[in-house]
Amino acid sequence: MAEAQAGHRLFKMEIITPERVVLEEEVEGVVLSSPEGFFGILRGHAPFIGGLSIGVLKYRKDGKLHWIATDNGVFEMSENRLRILADAAERGEDINVLRAKEAYDRAKQRLGQRYEDLDHLRAELALKRSLARLKAASGGV
Ligand code: ATP
Repeated sequence: MAEAQAGHRLFKMEIITPERVVLEEEVEGVVLSSPEGFFGILRGHAPFIGGLSIGVLKYRKDGKLHWIATDNGVFEMSENRLRILADAAERGEDINVLRAKEAYDRAKQRLGQRYEDLDHLRAELALKRSLARLKAASGGV
């Protein structure tokens, strides 16, 4: 009975990058990072196209929460199908934490330099990506 009720709430989510299909699942709910802030999506959501930001996407499946690090991108919700196109995305459990920490340290070091140029902007984005990866790898904390 409970399962049938949960099934009623499901919708399809796909996360696609230029390299691969990161995820294709039936999910119960999603919260993603958009330029306007966190954006929650449930089955039955009105058709919508929005921007995806560097950050952490959280979704629920079988009552359990999962975390994905996302780079910039776009998403579309239509007919109970959420399609997310991102420059990069990694499931929390697939993230190489050491690599993310090294990327964080490199970005911090660059940002510590005084001048503001293109490298500075790149370092800011790299810092955001590394923080999102560290957060997704540690269960959103
Ligand atoms: P790095 O400096 O460590 O390469 P980056 O932010 O420049 O980090 P991206 O250009 O965003 O890396 O990603 C390149 C590819 O590597 C993508 O496929 C991305 O999913 C993957 N990737 C990047 N960092 C990690 C990580 N810490 N764990 C797993 N995959 C990662």
